[in-house]
Amino acid sequence: AIVVSALKEADGENRVAMTPDIVSRLVKSNYEVLIEQGAGVNAFYPDDAYTQAGAKVVDRNEAISQASIIAMIDKPSAATIQQLKAGQAIIGLLAPLTDQDTVKALAEKKVSALAFELLPRTVSRAQTMDVLSSQSSVAGYKAALLAADRFSRYFPMMITAAGTAKPAKVLVLGTGVAGLQAIGTAKRLGAVVSGYDVRPASRGEVESLGATFLTTSVSGAGEGGYARQLTPEETQQQQDELAGFIAENNVIITTAQVPGRKPPLLVTQKSVDEAKPGTIFVDLAASELGGNVAGSKPATTVTTDAGAQIIGAGDMASQLPSAASDMFAKNVQAVITYITKDDQLTLDVDDDVIGELLATKDGEIISNRLRGAMK
Ligand code: NAD
Repeated sequence: AIVVSALKEADGENRVAMTPDIVSRLVKSNYEVLIEQGAGVNAFYPDDAYTQAGAKVVDRNEAISQASIIAMIDKPSAATIQQLKAGQAIIGLLAPLTDQDTVKALAEKKVSALAFELLPRTVSRAQTMDVLSSQSSVAGYKAALLAADRFSRYFPMMITAAGTAKPAKVLVLGTGVAGLQAIGTAKRLGAVVSGYDVRPASRGEVESLGATFLTTSVSGAGEGGYARQLTPEETQQQQDELAGFIAENNVIITTAQVPGRKPPLLVTQKSVDEAKPGTIFVDLAASELGGNVAGSKPATTVTTDAGAQIIGAGDMASQLPSAASDMFAKNVQAVITYITKDDQLTLDVDDDVIGELLATKDGEIISNRLRGAMK
């Protein structure tokens, strides 16, 4: 049988790449599953639950050395990569477009590295494997809840004997998968919501959720349904035009990403300084690469002198760990099913999904998109 392992993630990551439900499905389909001790604890999946589902709970060394396929959420550390063996497959968010050292280390080890960031998202066969979508959806939902929790007033309009509270005004910048989920969640909580994106195609999706679509004079549709990187002049123009929208809202949720690039700065220091006291910024793009809001810091809340809060919220999916893990594991299962046949790893580089999802195999960079991005 093919041996699939799931490892315990680094501190601060609450998700797990394999759930008991997916274990039992894999075991029924004749896979053997190993789970590193404690891997699911932060997602409320104790070791017992995996054992009952038919997995073997083992130590890390065994989980790595016995595996044909290793499933992870985040990229492996350099130390973990050193333990891998040629021909093993590893699946996860390996950050190939932004961390070339990891890609090179995996290639040197002759590991078959499948990186979810490289999945061709418009191929319909790949949709069940789309981790970026499943995790963005969780993140957008959680971001709206976090904003509502931190905001010092109501989201909905409240009519009471003690007076009427106005609804909160929520602005979502970047209306891809996460942004749309944030809009839907904020609407359900009763806020007055507007959305903005550089892709004009986004208008219909925003309006269908009952939110107002805002535009600037900058348009930035790029390849494959993604936004392109704007020029410095366009960026400045966009920032200037967005400043007015930001000043009128109570909550600003930002989600803008351009694959493989530093996230665009949408909210300048000046916009932060001019925000109403009590404004909540939730920056879903906040990572070590930067963020959409000036001064945002990953996994930290910064309170400004003027009383705004900037929440560095790049880790939202990890903050809803059970739901996020359920979907992640389902996406992993779809990949495993796709790359195996009759107890063999197939990994057909000529397949349009696998040929892109594969960052490295046999020491080579396989994905065209990654090859184009490698220096
Ligand atoms: P993403 O996470 O890469 O980016 C989030 C949003 O930020 C996007 O909507 C993008 O347009 C926007 N953005 C980037 N730069 C910006 C800027 N300077 N100002 C304002 N907004 C900016 O995007 P995503 O959520 O992964 O989705 C990207 C696209 O892919 C969307 O069109 C989405 O509908 C599409 N998609 C398609 C499929 C599919 O066909 N199966 C699956 C998932 C997503």
